[in-house]
Amino acid sequence: MDVMLDKNELPWGQDKRVKEAIIARLASMDFNRYPDNDCTELKKALSGYTGLDTGMICIGNGSDELILLAIQAFVEPGETIAVHMPTFMMYKSFGGICGARVWEYETGEGFELELDDFITCLQKEKPRLTFLCSPNNPTGGRFELQELEQLLDKAPGMVVIDEAYFEFSGITVAGLIHKYEKLIVLRTFSKALGLAGLRIGYMLAAPSVISCVERIRSPYNVSSFSQAAAVEVLKNLDVVKERIELVKAERSRLYGLLSKLEGIKCFESWGNFILIRSPYAGEIFKSLQESGIHIRKFSDPRLEGCLRLTVGSPGENDRLIKAVKEVLYGRG
Ligand code: PMP
Repeated sequence: MDVMLDKNELPWGQDKRVKEAIIARLASMDFNRYPDNDCTELKKALSGYTGLDTGMICIGNGSDELILLAIQAFVEPGETIAVHMPTFMMYKSFGGICGARVWEYETGEGFELELDDFITCLQKEKPRLTFLCSPNNPTGGRFELQELEQLLDKAPGMVVIDEAYFEFSGITVAGLIHKYEKLIVLRTFSKALGLAGLRIGYMLAAPSVISCVERIRSPYNVSSFSQAAAVEVLKNLDVVKERIELVKAERSRLYGLLSKLEGIKCFESWGNFILIRSPYAGEIFKSLQESGIHIRKFSDPRLEGCLRLTVGSPGENDRLIKAVKEVLYGRG
């Protein structure tokens, strides 16, 4: 069977108990009706998960939709959005689609971001919206809370902190929303919560910000089934937490094994993936592809020689390591 380590998904389907609860909900639903446009039950469950009022939550069809909505709500064509490179490509992509000027901050060789310099540049460029991804996809680095607070103190315009992978890093700025009206936090059910197939993301921000976004959101953007499944997942956080711990343990194991290999440089990661750089990246990618192991390569020249490996199940990670070793050291 193919091993899917290219999209930073969770390697496991729903746990039996959660799946049964979701199926029971499905059986009791009538699909002739539109979904709850306010996502009332899901917002209530998310309020418990995040500690924020339901008026500070907006639900999207994946957090991709919320990236687009944040740009549409706060950036006029010709105005600037700021991104640090390399990062998740949708900020730049949606920025371009909306006619924004996308200003790119170049990070160093090891992809570290010099915060003071970044802030100085932001003050000069004056973006309406700055995107910061923490942990960052694809490099895996994260920002400390005090760094993010420093940024929020000094950055002009709105600041979006994309926390798609925060469950694997343990750092969140959600607690700062009460202090900063300029702060927008984006999260997703596609990673640690294991519902990538159902397309559910959420935004956390001050009520005034949420109402700006709600005004331009398409009605009924999240299906009844997705809403119900997300609620069931949040009712079973013990399962979620157990899986997060397992991914983190596998991330350390994988990092340890990969960084011992000659010809591979590993970047420290706080997400459920590890970025590596190797002069043999092309061969590794091709050979893994042929053996049915899917990993991510990049066209961005900044990521020349880099590959991103999602942390899979223990068995998948064993297969990955074995296949990489075969490329580096030959068979037998
Ligand atoms: N933000 C980041 C940093 C991501 O890596 C992804 C998906 N890979 C997303 C947002 C979008 O997630 P989704 O639309 O599935 O919620």
